[in-house]
Amino acid sequence: MPVAAPITQDVLTIPRKPPEGPVNLVGLTREGLRAALIAHGTPEKQARMRASQIWQWLYWWGVRDFETMTNLSKAYRAELAENFVIAIPELVDRQISADGTRKYLVRIRGGHEVEVVYIPEEDRGTLCISSQVGCTLTCSFCHTGTQKLVRNLSAAEIIGQIMMARDDLDEWPRRGEGAGERPRRLSNVVLMGMGEPLYNFDNVRDAMRIAMDGEGISLSRRRITLSTSGVVPEIARTAREIGCMLAVSFHATTDEVRDRLVPINRKWNLAALLDALREYPRLSNSERITFEYVMLKDVNDSDADARRLVQLIRGIPAKINLIPFNEWPGAPFERSDWERIERFADIVHKAGYASPIRTPRGEDIMAACGQLKSASERARNARRQDGAAPAP
Ligand code: SAH
Ligand code: SF4
Repeated sequence: MPVAAPITQDVLTIPRKPPEGPVNLVGLTREGLRAALIAHGTPEKQARMRASQIWQWLYWWGVRDFETMTNLSKAYRAELAENFVIAIPELVDRQISADGTRKYLVRIRGGHEVEVVYIPEEDRGTLCISSQVGCTLTCSFCHTGTQKLVRNLSAAEIIGQIMMARDDLDEWPRRGEGAGERPRRLSNVVLMGMGEPLYNFDNVRDAMRIAMDGEGISLSRRRITLSTSGVVPEIARTAREIGCMLAVSFHATTDEVRDRLVPINRKWNLAALLDALREYPRLSNSERITFEYVMLKDVNDSDADARRLVQLIRGIPAKINLIPFNEWPGAPFERSDWERIERFADIVHKAGYASPIRTPRGEDIMAACGQLKSASERARNARRQDGAAPAP
């Protein structure tokens, strides 16, 4: 298990406070990296070149110490080591499910813990990352929603989740190896972990731009999917400033039911949400939007719901992802019966939309959608009960 350097300081996300310790280079935009180098004595004329060299070490090669940056002079490397650190969240626990799903527990500044899930498939692998600790929203079927917002993750902590997983999957290129020589194990990223990404817009944007940068991790924008509960004013900005694929937690076909399931609907209702979604493919030049629809028994799973759904989204290029509800202790809902889910999928499919049913992955390690909070809390409680020291 790789051990990351301890988290120190993250300048960009706390701009009002001058950095007390060394500055973390991870998570800075290209421009931010250049500015940080200049602020610490790199001559302006050289800064762009140095920033580009360091960028490649960080994000192409996955290097974590300045000594390895052999195209920089020894003296300059020593200067960097004095002023900067390269820090990503610390991996504290890894569980591997019978189906190959990996759940990582990572610790971030302040001792908070966040879960990251890797889901391998035959020809690709998807990493589900978090954007906040907890969530300010309170969707009634989501366990994360019962946990108060602790704080936004910094750009370093968001891109750091991807870097941590690439460490674990041995995904960084080896010296002498050409691009694309080995198939990618981590080929897709979904922002579907804890938190509402559009309530942490700037950090999510900066982190995703790092992930997409061609001189680094080089994930295509079509392989990144951001899921939102429907923060309408930020949807057009997502198209313009990130340009990734969009998923929306739709979950209901009337305002009455959606108000109850996804309370942000009281602020931006179905009509407002659908207007924003209609614009998204054009603004972002992407093909289609994923509508996530959690299947809750006798709440939103009737034939009439399925028909209303296809009526509502008419004209929007879309895929409907049906998610069987994942139960958690004390949840006020039940999962729809399998026949019901299939019948719902069939109606949507016959109306011309792809309607895959999301197979729950990693259930044995509580890694499925909406189960994330319980898993870490359970681990914490177990540690407490054992009287054992916290995980190393
Ligand atoms: N906050 C964002 C992204 C995180 S949630 C959002 O709401 O879109 C990722 C997906 O999992 C969302 O579609 C969410 O509605 C769904 N989800 C949450 N709890 C769930 C549960 N218990 N069972 C199944 N899906 C759930
Ligand atoms: Fe927050 Fe998304 Fe859960 Fe709603 S579904 S509470 S927005 S994480």
